[in-house]
Amino acid sequence: MLIDTHVHLNADQFAEDAEETIERAREAGVEKMVVVGFDTKTINLAMDLVEKHEDLYAAVGWHPVDAVDCDDEKLAWIEELAGHPKVVAIGETGLDYHWDKSPADVQKDIFRKQLHLARRVQLPIIIHDREAHEDIVEVLQEENAGDIGGIMHCFQGDQKMAEACLDMNFYISFGGPVTFKNAKLPKEVAVTIPDDRLLVETDAPFLAPHPYRGKRNEPAYVKLVAEQLAELRGVSYETLAGQTTANAEALFQFDRR
Ligand SMILES: [Zn+2]
Ligand SMILES: [Zn+2]
Repeated sequence: MLIDTHVHLNADQFAEDAEETIERAREAGVEKMVVVGFDTKTINLAMDLVEKHEDLYAAVGWHPVDAVDCDDEKLAWIEELAGHPKVVAIGETGLDYHWDKSPADVQKDIFRKQLHLARRVQLPIIIHDREAHEDIVEVLQEENAGDIGGIMHCFQGDQKMAEACLDMNFYISFGGPVTFKNAKLPKEVAVTIPDDRLLVETDAPFLAPHPYRGKRNEPAYVKLVAEQLAELRGVSYETLAGQTTANAEALFQFDRR
């Protein structure tokens, strides 16, 4: 069995067939899925989905690309939702320097506020990092994020960054890119992550693994990520699935409330 620790079943791409997609994931052996909401619309849809399905859980936060649209009222709403029994994490938040909709200083401010929020509600935080490796580590260190902990989602940093994040109690999660044929760095880093710090995800509908690269991703494909990691790490698929599932259970404590 597997846990997809990061999936956007609340995305427009699943508006027509979310139910069938969830069913295919179950058939592929995905026992739980964490649906990530990152703005008003996707948070509301994530909450609807987790109310309806026992095996779905939610993460709620504000995406760095849209940081300019976030305000104290929205953060207060996220904090209130954090008390819902099926909300298991804050995020995704972080920094994204690929798009220029939100200036870096605004992104950092909203990121820090969500770290404070996660600390208050005592939930792990899910970090999105795109082209912002050094600043992410700097903010996490300045905010003493080690005692919040959480996930570096779809990790694409180098060995040094992985070590800095592991030192701060973070789990390292790999998605579709680790299966890409030319993905030298993620493959190298994936081999070095300790057994008890490794997670798998899809980030569906984005970043579909090989051989579906460029197509719509879906949570059933988390199996392809797990198979790739097992091969790289020289363990059986069953061992890899067991380790990553136990790690997700330990981090999210799905049934804590
Ligand atoms: Zn992300
Ligand atoms: Zn995401």
